[in-house]
Amino acid sequence: MSGNRRTPKSTILGRFGILGASIGVTIFYIATAAGLAVTIGPFLIGGLVGIGLLVLFVWGGTNLIALLFMGNDPEYRAWRREGGDPYFDNLPPPFNTDSNTQRDGGLAEPEYEGFVPPDDWVHQCPKCGARWEHAVGVCWNCNYGSDMAQCAGCGEFVKEPNPGDFETCGVICPHCSCVIRLT
Ligand SMILES: [Zn+2]
Ligand SMILES: [Zn+2]
Repeated sequence: MSGNRRTPKSTILGRFGILGASIGVTIFYIATAAGLAVTIGPFLIGGLVGIGLLVLFVWGGTNLIALLFMGNDPEYRAWRREGGDPYFDNLPPPFNTDSNTQRDGGLAEPEYEGFVPPDDWVHQCPKCGARWEHAVGVCWNCNYGSDMAQCAGCGEFVKEPNPGDFETCGVICPHCSCVIRLT
């Protein structure tokens, strides 16, 4: 599916919940088989709470380590802003079944017709999900970004309010107030 978002974290947590519950049930059956008179409730709750605490602990630790090592990396920060998570996006199936581009760019790739981008293209179009060679630019697949220009003042990409504004009246950069005019 083109443009599919990442699996929601709630869905992934739900899958952990199923795992926790089944661990609880398994331990319950082992206990009954061992001849203990027990009820299933505490085992279910124990399994869920146990998995919950483990996930919380590892998630917190992974985020902390990522922050320490990559907290100043603009690419990492941009990835975080659009929903990337160093823990959830590195989980293997069955918890997270997203493709690599989905984990990386947040979108599933479209069905390519004709040109298929090489495997070493790791960037992604924020609109259609097609793989890109460079982090920014005009999308070869859906033309996304053709109304954008890079501000010479601050380097941010700015969208044209009306078609042709860059060439005619120029556009004031919302980040640094420089005027962007293409000739
Ligand atoms: Zn695109
Ligand atoms: Zn600017």
